[in-house]
Amino acid sequence: MRYPSTSLIAQIKKERKRQGITQAELAAMLGLPQPSIARIETGVISPTLGMLERICDALGLEMLVQKQRVIPRRLNLVVDMHGCPNRCLHCWLGDLPNRILNDDDATWIASLFRPYFKDLTFYSWLREPDFCPDYRARWQKDCALSSMKPERFELASFYRLVRDPDYVAFLKEVGTKKVQLTFFGGETTTDKYVGRKGAYQELLEATRILLRQGITPRWQLFINMENKEEILPQIKVGEGMGVKEIFVHEGSCDGNNAKLYDIRIEKEAIPEELIPYYLDYGEIRAEREWCQRLKGSKERFLPHNEKDITLNIASDFNVYFHFTSPSRAWCLGNLKKDPMDRIVKAAVEETVPALVLSRAMPLGRLATKYGDFESNKAFSLEDYKMFLLNRYLDEAYNVPKELDELSTRIQKMLGDSDL
Ligand code: SF4
Repeated sequence: MRYPSTSLIAQIKKERKRQGITQAELAAMLGLPQPSIARIETGVISPTLGMLERICDALGLEMLVQKQRVIPRRLNLVVDMHGCPNRCLHCWLGDLPNRILNDDDATWIASLFRPYFKDLTFYSWLREPDFCPDYRARWQKDCALSSMKPERFELASFYRLVRDPDYVAFLKEVGTKKVQLTFFGGETTTDKYVGRKGAYQELLEATRILLRQGITPRWQLFINMENKEEILPQIKVGEGMGVKEIFVHEGSCDGNNAKLYDIRIEKEAIPEELIPYYLDYGEIRAEREWCQRLKGSKERFLPHNEKDITLNIASDFNVYFHFTSPSRAWCLGNLKKDPMDRIVKAAVEETVPALVLSRAMPLGRLATKYGDFESNKAFSLEDYKMFLLNRYLDEAYNVPKELDELSTRIQKMLGDSDL
């Protein structure tokens, strides 16, 4: 696939290699020292138009100007512009810093991607939506930066709901019908897991506000070995308040939640009374069952975007897929440091290091090396595959020497591959 403004240099380098001409030979043809060609090909220096013409002549190439081709897919940019008031122990996004980006940053980020994609939708929140005092202006700016209107989903800021009387009216204005709220059991446990004293009372108050305004609150309760006895009483609290939609879940096991692996709920420890509330109970198995099923598998785990491409952008301008937690292996590049062509190519072709490594590692090997064949911990199959892959990536990326070699090899491979 070719991209607009695709690196001309990469095409020239590819053709030079195809013809079996070395850098030194090309340099000699042009009367230049070999390092000049090396610097051009590695992007250290930008050649003049005249020099490009001379290089193309030497290789028998012709330079053409043609209309840019636009990638016929929708791009969703989800940018962490405001951070999050909470520090949830289970947060799949890990410990991203609460840095604030401004309007100029938003405009700049959208402008980097817009030339490449047919449609773009901009979201100014990656974590708790509307956790900023000017949520109304932000929403308008999101709409202005988007060629397809952003969705509201079923998320809102409970922090803001209990502090700003105008906020619920805004939610209604933008068409919010339902809002999901997350509990971890009773008051002490919920405050502990949200990472903020008072969070539990705020969640209850947010529920009352939503019910009064005709917006449906949906309660999500995360269960683990530590809080399993608190879940049913908390469901009763919700039902007593008139909450109609309540579900229980074990959560994925990436980001910060991977640190809670030791207290992950075991399949047999799920109280029977919770089964009617449990999300996709029939899909979960004990870890040891998944290990047995996967141990001979040659399949590779390659999560991918079916239709739209969704990219998460952290406040340090690192770009990630939305598949899982933002670790180094999942990083597509940095908007301040890396060429856009390379980031877009990685986004479209899914050549992020994690997926390149995953292609080389069958699930059977992941299960044998990183799985626990004795464990009763509950997982859905997809969550378990991601858990195994991230364990492998964490190990590969946590050894500094290997990290450098690996990064260099992958970057080189990605940079050298066909555009
Ligand atoms: S889980 Fe959601 S609310 Fe909790 S810290 Fe992460 S982004 Fe914030």
